[in-house]
Amino acid sequence: MTATTNGNQFDAIVIGGGPAGASSAAILAEYGHRVLVLEREKFPRYHIGESMIPFTYQPMERLGLIPVMKTSGFVKKYSVVFISPSGRASQPFYFFNRYDRESVAQTWQVLRSEFDEILLNNARAKGAEVLEEITVQELLRAGDRVVGVRAQKKSGEIVEFRAPITLDCSGKEAFTSVRNGWRLKDPYLNKIAVWTYYKGSKREPGIDEGATTVAYVPDKGWFWHIPQHNDMLSVGVVAEGKYLTRDGVREPEQIFKREIEQNAWIKDHLSVGQQVGQYYLISEYSHHARHCGSDGLLLVGDAFAFLDPVFSSGLMLALKSGTMAGDAVHQAIVERNFAPERFADYARFMRAGVENMRKLVYAFYNPAFSFKKVIDKYPEAGGEITDCLSGDVNKDFTPLWNKIREFVPLPDDLPVGQPLPTGDPALV
Ligand SMILES: Cc1cc2nc3c(=O)[nH]c(=O)nc-3n(C[C@H](O)[C@H](O)[C@H](O)COP(=O)(O)OP(=O)(O)OC[C@H]3O[C@@H](n4cnc5c(N)ncnc54)[C@H](O)[C@@H]3O)c2cc1C
Repeated sequence: MTATTNGNQFDAIVIGGGPAGASSAAILAEYGHRVLVLEREKFPRYHIGESMIPFTYQPMERLGLIPVMKTSGFVKKYSVVFISPSGRASQPFYFFNRYDRESVAQTWQVLRSEFDEILLNNARAKGAEVLEEITVQELLRAGDRVVGVRAQKKSGEIVEFRAPITLDCSGKEAFTSVRNGWRLKDPYLNKIAVWTYYKGSKREPGIDEGATTVAYVPDKGWFWHIPQHNDMLSVGVVAEGKYLTRDGVREPEQIFKREIEQNAWIKDHLSVGQQVGQYYLISEYSHHARHCGSDGLLLVGDAFAFLDPVFSSGLMLALKSGTMAGDAVHQAIVERNFAPERFADYARFMRAGVENMRKLVYAFYNPAFSFKKVIDKYPEAGGEITDCLSGDVNKDFTPLWNKIREFVPLPDDLPVGQPLPTGDPALV
């Protein structure tokens, strides 16, 4: 049975209560709009993606959450370190060498179950209505215009909710992008990741304890090493599927254990402590939505674009797009105008950031590239690289790309992201 009542009419509907959904809902609720978040899971729920970068600071400040983060138990992160294939550590890239020590220069390693619950509760506290254990199954349309969603509760009951605008914040699964045929794979960034957790493994002393370490697997991929609170460690390996499953090895645990042997630093750090819980595997990395939305629909966070996580850009992009979408949708509600074209600036801004990060990711995966080679030739590139790695991605990096192109080719921007104009026959 389908239930619809006047109580099911909102100013905005948000699909998904992750960082993108919770942040856009918090902004909209703060403006006083009636916003509904529909989340499939019951929070706190597990999620990968645990390392923040400095420029998550601004959206977190906008959400009023910096004091909460400062008093939380999350491990403080001051730097990123790269480990060569032979196991040699680079100098840490300390953020405070470039940014204000009291704000942007210190970020956090989070446990997503706890962090995402903080974000979602923040949206609730600001007045958003949040329903958990309810799965959006379908967009409701009037002609081409999205006018709401049909969702199923855990009990099996089907419910319809209506609003002049729906924000798709469904994450990497990209609910509307998949259904509209808008999802494009990034041809080169097609990796898989295998990861698990350790308790009591080896840590660096002092302020280096919370560093994100990226350790190379020779010519193939990399490990992440992310220290968390309660002496836990998130550790995973990312590479081409063909490489990780060579000789017919398919079990995540076997893949992981074999790769530990490929980097002496990782092997040494995992030589003490206890592996905890399951091994995870994920494939189908990096995708882009052809459009940021259409009439009555806006895509936010991973649902808009998901980039290989080597530089931990996902949370920054999700929170930035969430807060920005909140502002843009607020204006649309105030002006009672939800024409897709009004989100063109949002799309341009977010795509520009994604494209800058994407160029650095492409360079990273080219065996001929090293940060050191570029910085040795062009010392001023160090600051530009730090800005991009820290998430200050909405600036003109043309001088940096020109320098890096002397070493490795970089991809052109993908011609995607602009809203689908009303009446466009591409809408399916
Ligand atoms: C292996 C790996 C490592 C990563 N490491 C990092 C990292 O170190 N740092 C970093 O910043 N990022 C990292 N990321 C990326 C990061 O996890 C994401 O960018 C981030 O979670 C995006 O937030 P989101 O809100 O867009 O999506 P999500 O966090 O995925 O939230 C989407 C929510 O929508 C809900 N949902 C989905 N479909 C429906 C539906 N139909 N109905 C109702 N609810 C629905 C889901 O249950 C989920 O709660 C990593 C990603 C991967 C895969």
